[in-house]
Amino acid sequence: MNDLLYATLSNVSLLLQKKEVSATELTKLCLERMQATEAKLGAMLTIDDEGALAQAKVLDEQGPDPNKPLWGVPVTVKDVILTKGLTTTAGSRMLEHFVPPYDAFVVERLRQAGAVILGKANMDEFAMGSTTENSAYHAAHNPWDLNKVPGGSSGGSAVSVASGQCYASLGTDTGGSIRQPAALCGCVGMKPTYGRVSRYGVIAYGSSLDQVGPLARSVADCARVLAVIAGHDHRDATSSPLDVPDYQKALASGQLKGVRFGLPKEFYGEGLASDVASACESTLKLLLEAGARRVDVSLAHTHAAIATYYIIAMAEASSNLARYDGVRYGYRAQAITDLESLYVKSRSEGFGQEVRRRIMLGAFVLSSGYYDAYYKKAAQVRRIIRDEYLAALEHCDVLLCPVSPVTAWPLGEHANDPLKMYLMDAYTLSLNLAGLPGLSLPCAKTASGMPVGMQIIGKAFSEAQLLALGQAMETILPHIGHPSL
Ligand code: GLN
Repeated sequence: MNDLLYATLSNVSLLLQKKEVSATELTKLCLERMQATEAKLGAMLTIDDEGALAQAKVLDEQGPDPNKPLWGVPVTVKDVILTKGLTTTAGSRMLEHFVPPYDAFVVERLRQAGAVILGKANMDEFAMGSTTENSAYHAAHNPWDLNKVPGGSSGGSAVSVASGQCYASLGTDTGGSIRQPAALCGCVGMKPTYGRVSRYGVIAYGSSLDQVGPLARSVADCARVLAVIAGHDHRDATSSPLDVPDYQKALASGQLKGVRFGLPKEFYGEGLASDVASACESTLKLLLEAGARRVDVSLAHTHAAIATYYIIAMAEASSNLARYDGVRYGYRAQAITDLESLYVKSRSEGFGQEVRRRIMLGAFVLSSGYYDAYYKKAAQVRRIIRDEYLAALEHCDVLLCPVSPVTAWPLGEHANDPLKMYLMDAYTLSLNLAGLPGLSLPCAKTASGMPVGMQIIGKAFSEAQLLALGQAMETILPHIGHPSL
C-alpha cells in the first residue's frame, strides 16, 4: 500500500481499472494519510471523510469504467471552487459557513469523470497571497521543510499532492497561484490559457486573470485532469468555444530535438537566487544536450508587470468583493445600528488584513481622478506586455523561465512586508496579464533539499504542445523524489 501513496495518477488509474485496488481502498488510504499528516501540514480546510467514502462506495458498486478518466481517483479541490453541499470558504471568515447550492463547472466535470473529492484545500484568503499564510484558518507547511511556506495561493493543493494525500488537485492561478506552489513543493502545475477552463462557480478574485488548472505528480497526470476540466461552458461568457485537443494523445508526440526554447533575458537577471539560477542553467544544459536550441529573447516591459498586475488585480478584486455586504450571504456582524454599520462592521470583521488592503487600493485606483493615471495606464501596459509575449513567441517555440526567484522561504519571513511579497510573483504574473498558458515542472533540488521549478510558456491554446514538451523534459530532468514525512 505504501508504494501507492506516491504513485502517479496514471498508475493508480490503471490499478483501479484492473480492479487491483478499489476506489474505497484508495480513498481510505488517502484519508488515513491526511489524518496522519494534517497536524503538521495544514493542507486542508475541510476533509469530507463521509462524502468521499460514499462516492467511492457508489463507484465500486458500479465497477470501473474506462470512459471515466478519473474513475476512483482521490483528489482535492482548492477551497475557492464551489462544491455542492460541501463548505466552501475561499480561506475567509467571510464565508466560514457558506455551503454552496451548486457545483462549479470543473467540479461537475470531476464528478462525471469518476473522481473522488476528498475535501477542500487550504489557500490564501480569496486567493490573495503567495504563501497560504493569508488563510483565515491556519497556514500550510511545505512538506519538504515544515518550517517553510508551500507557496500560494493554492498552497493546500500543492501540499496535498506533494505529500501523498491525493493524486491531483485543482487550483486557481490569477498571478501564479498554481505554478508557484507547484514549483515550491516539487509538483507539476498548469495554468491554462484564459478561457480554456470555465470559471463558473469559481469565487472571483481578478476576473480577467483567474484560471483554474491542475496540480499533479507528473505532466501526464496534469494532461489527464486538464482534459477533464477543459471545454466550453455557456455559463461563463469568457469560456472559449474552441475544441479541446486530445491532450493524452498529444503527449506521445513530445520530443526535444530542434525545439527552440526562448530565454527572456529579463527573467535571468538581478533578483534570481543563485541556487535557482544554477538549477535553470543545468536544465538548459540538459535540454541542449537532448538536441533543443536556445534562442535569446526579450520581454522588455517585465519590470512593469508587478505594478500593472497589482493595479488590475486589486481593481477587479474590489469590485468582485463588493458583493460580501453582510446582507445576502456570508458573515454578518452583530449589534449593528443601521445599514451603513452593517456594511462596515461585516466587511471589517469578515475580511482579513490583506483582503482589506487590496479592496482599498483597488477602490482607489478606480476612483474618479485616479482612474486614468492608474487603472487605464495599467490596462495599456498590460496590452504592451501581451504584445511582447506574442512577439517573443514568433522567434521560438516556447519560453523557458524560472517560476519563483527563490526556493521556499521560512514561514513568516515576508508576512509583514506586502511589497516584498508582491516581488516574489515577478516571474509568474505577467503570463496572466497576457492570458497565455504555462506549465511548471520540477527541474532540480537544491543542496538544501528544496525543489526548484521551471515553466514553459506557449501561445494561446497551446496546452497540447506544452504538455507534450513537458513530458519530454520530464524524461531528461532529474527526479526529485518525494518528501519524507
Ligand atoms: N500572489 C499573487 C497575488 O497575491 C497571485 C495570486 C493568485 O494567483 N491567486 O495576487
